[in-house]
Amino acid sequence: MAGGTRGAQADRDLDAVIQLFETARRFAERNVGSSPTLFISQLMNERILSDAITSSAAREEVVTIKTVHSAKGLEWEFVVVTGLQEGTWPNLKERGSLLGSERLVEADRSGLTSRAEIAASAATGLASDERRLLYVALSRAKSRLLVTSYVDEDSLPSRYFEEIYEFVHGASSEGVFTPSERDITAQALVAELRRSSMEGSEFAARVLKTLSSSGVRSADPSQWIGVRNISTDQPIIDPAKSVPVSPSALTSFDDCGLKWFLEKSGAQDGDSTAQLLGVAIHFIASELFKKPDLTLEEGIAQLTEAWPVVDQNVGWVKTQQLQEATRMLTRFFEWHQANPRTLVAVEEDFALQIGRAKLSGSVDRLEMDPISGKYFIVDLKTGATVTKEAAQEHKQLAAYQLGVVAGGFAGIPEGAEVDGAGLLFLKSKTGKNETVDQSAIDSELVASEIQEAAEGMAAATFNAVINKRCGTCSIRALCPLQSEGRSVIE
Ligand code: SF4
Repeated sequence: MAGGTRGAQADRDLDAVIQLFETARRFAERNVGSSPTLFISQLMNERILSDAITSSAAREEVVTIKTVHSAKGLEWEFVVVTGLQEGTWPNLKERGSLLGSERLVEADRSGLTSRAEIAASAATGLASDERRLLYVALSRAKSRLLVTSYVDEDSLPSRYFEEIYEFVHGASSEGVFTPSERDITAQALVAELRRSSMEGSEFAARVLKTLSSSGVRSADPSQWIGVRNISTDQPIIDPAKSVPVSPSALTSFDDCGLKWFLEKSGAQDGDSTAQLLGVAIHFIASELFKKPDLTLEEGIAQLTEAWPVVDQNVGWVKTQQLQEATRMLTRFFEWHQANPRTLVAVEEDFALQIGRAKLSGSVDRLEMDPISGKYFIVDLKTGATVTKEAAQEHKQLAAYQLGVVAGGFAGIPEGAEVDGAGLLFLKSKTGKNETVDQSAIDSELVASEIQEAAEGMAAATFNAVINKRCGTCSIRALCPLQSEGRSVIE
């Protein structure tokens, strides 16, 4: 053996000590403040799988699974040697210990000094070791020996397998491998067994049970998707009760019912920087109502002061985001100063009961045309723009308009006239303000659409609808219309 038996043993001992230190480090990180006694106790109670298999397999008429090292000195009638894959056996990769003591041993043994020569010499020694190990494995068989290997995209039979095959058959193994009907993995085996058991195979069912009781989780039926019954098929809101509806939910529900339902049920991330930025801009914009003399410089100063809370990034990313936010605020001030309408209210709440729909929300800006006396609602957007056509169909804006017409705002009588509503996009690609307006609504039509949406929001099922936001949808992995989320059970 390269470096001598004692050298190799010293290497292993050193590696074991280093490994012990590493385990202790991980333990200390995970269990801050715990005592060394607890660490030792955990180590002592650890059951190594291979140990468990070895001890329980030391009976008659069972398969004994052993490493080659642990099989030294033992014999069996029938031995199966597996894992003869190139790169695995022989494994000629340099076994580096932390301090590289093996190179020292090799240098001492061979008298070489160059690093490359030492590595080459060590590799030769490794090859001899691996071949000796193979001999040990093969010679454990008293009467029958089976040597296995496989071919797939990432792995080929090793040179040892080839040598054995040629010795036995007198020809190369090329072309003799039979394509496997499934991957050689526990999951693939379980999948095949499940299929067979569904087709009535009692044997497959028994094997699944054995695998499950041996700790193969994927073989446990309680882990299988689709085997449990639906917990309930009742509507999510009692048909006799009102359905809370927010104007923004109308747009989201209109885009995709499933996404709306899952996000409403918690399937969404915390507030992103973009969302917090929106909150900050909305806040400063609303300040203009209370302080009409607020200057752009003062607004930017407020924004800069609040920025550490809004953006947790550091360095140039943070600077760049603040610059973008400042540009948005500047655009808003420009738009505000050029806006001919009178600002009546900001962040104004409204509420309406329309059939089962309990519609409530608040508008960013409620304005009035000084000539016609009609109301106009403006919603500030810090996200992506929408087309003029989409704005006409925008459910959120329509709900705001209905809030005015149907007397949902305190102090505005039912029947007040609206001139329409608009979206003001501050994150403009063109560098200018972009607004898209919605004409005055047909309030009866909008009311009936809101009632219909409320019935859908209270229903027992929610449909996924492919739309232009699918690309950025956060629940794609749960969506049956996307390959990531497609059901594995029909
Ligand atoms: S990916 Fe598209 S269809 Fe699927 S849930 Fe998301 S928005 Fe709906």
